[in-house]
Amino acid sequence: MRGLVFTDQLELKRDLESLSIPPGEALIRSLVVGICNTDIEIVRGYFGFQGILGHEFVGVVEKCPDAPQWEGKRVVGEINAWCGECPACHRGDESHCPNRTTLGIFGRDGAMADYFLLPHRVLYEVPNSVSDEEAVFTEPLAAACEIPDQVSIRPQDRVVVVGDGKLGLLCAQVLHLTGCELVVVGKHLEKLDLLRNRGIKTCLLGDSLPGGVDIVVEATGNEDGFQLARQMVRPRGTIVLKSTYHGTPQIDLSMIVVDEIRLIGSRCGPFGAALRLLSSKQVDVTSLISDRFPFDEALTAFQKARENGVLKVLLDF
Ligand SMILES: [Zn+2]
Ligand SMILES: [Zn+2]
Repeated sequence: MRGLVFTDQLELKRDLESLSIPPGEALIRSLVVGICNTDIEIVRGYFGFQGILGHEFVGVVEKCPDAPQWEGKRVVGEINAWCGECPACHRGDESHCPNRTTLGIFGRDGAMADYFLLPHRVLYEVPNSVSDEEAVFTEPLAAACEIPDQVSIRPQDRVVVVGDGKLGLLCAQVLHLTGCELVVVGKHLEKLDLLRNRGIKTCLLGDSLPGGVDIVVEATGNEDGFQLARQMVRPRGTIVLKSTYHGTPQIDLSMIVVDEIRLIGSRCGPFGAALRLLSSKQVDVTSLISDRFPFDEALTAFQKARENGVLKVLLDF
C-alpha cells in the first residue's frame, strides 16, 4: 500500500506492507485526508514524530473483526487511542490518557495511507447528509466545539478570536452560534471576508482593536497573538489558548495575577457536536478548502499547504 512517511524527510512510499489488525481495532480505507498545521510542524521537526502522517480523515471501515457492525460504514474518528484502564480514562478524560497513542502524531501511524488502524471505540459514523469534504473537517471543528464546553458563553459576552487561520475561522463560526458579541482579529482580508459573508464582525490587525473583552480565544499559536489577547481581555476575563506554541513564549505572569485573568488550555473536542453542526449546515467548512490533490501528488500538496495565505489542502484517495 501507499503511505506518506516522515522520517528525516517526507516520502511517498508505495511498497508498504499490509496491516494486521490488533484486538479492538478497525482497518480503515482512507477517502479524503486533510493537511493540518500540526502535519507541517511535524515535517519541520517540531514534534519528534516519525511515521505515517495524517489525523484529519474520513474513511470506510474495511475490516473490524471485534465489531463487524462497523464494516462498510463511512467514519471519522477521534485521534487519541486511549487505554480505557487508567484513572484518566476512568474519570472520562480519555483524551488525556497517559498511555494514549495519537493518530499520525504520537506512537501511531496516521491516515495518509491507503489503509490505517484505529480502535473502533473512537469511531463515529458519518451521516449521509455530510459529504466527504465536509466530514474531513470533523476533527478540527470538534476542537473548536471544545471552547463552549469549557467556558460558558452568554449572549451578552464580548468575545474576540485572534487569528484567521483554519482553526480561527472554525472557532469563530462555532462561537457565532452562541449569539455572543463576536469580533475576529486577523491579518488577511480575504480570509476575514469568509466570516463577514456569514455576518461575523472582523477587524484587521492595525485597526483599532476591541478592549475590555470578556473572553479572548487565541488561535495564532505565536507570542504576538498572546500579547494581543492579553491587551484586549478585561480584568477577571478569560483567555482560551487554542494553539500550541513554538518554543517558550515570554509571558508577563504578574499581570495575569494582578488582573486575575483565567487562562484555559484547549485541545481536542466533541466529535458528536461537530458532526451535528456539519449535518445541519450551521457551519460552512467547504469555503476553507484552498486546494485538493490526488494522494499520488501528496508532496506537491504539502508544498501548497505551506504557502502563505493557503487554508485547507485535501488529499484524495
Ligand atoms: Zn490537526
Ligand atoms: Zn487510559
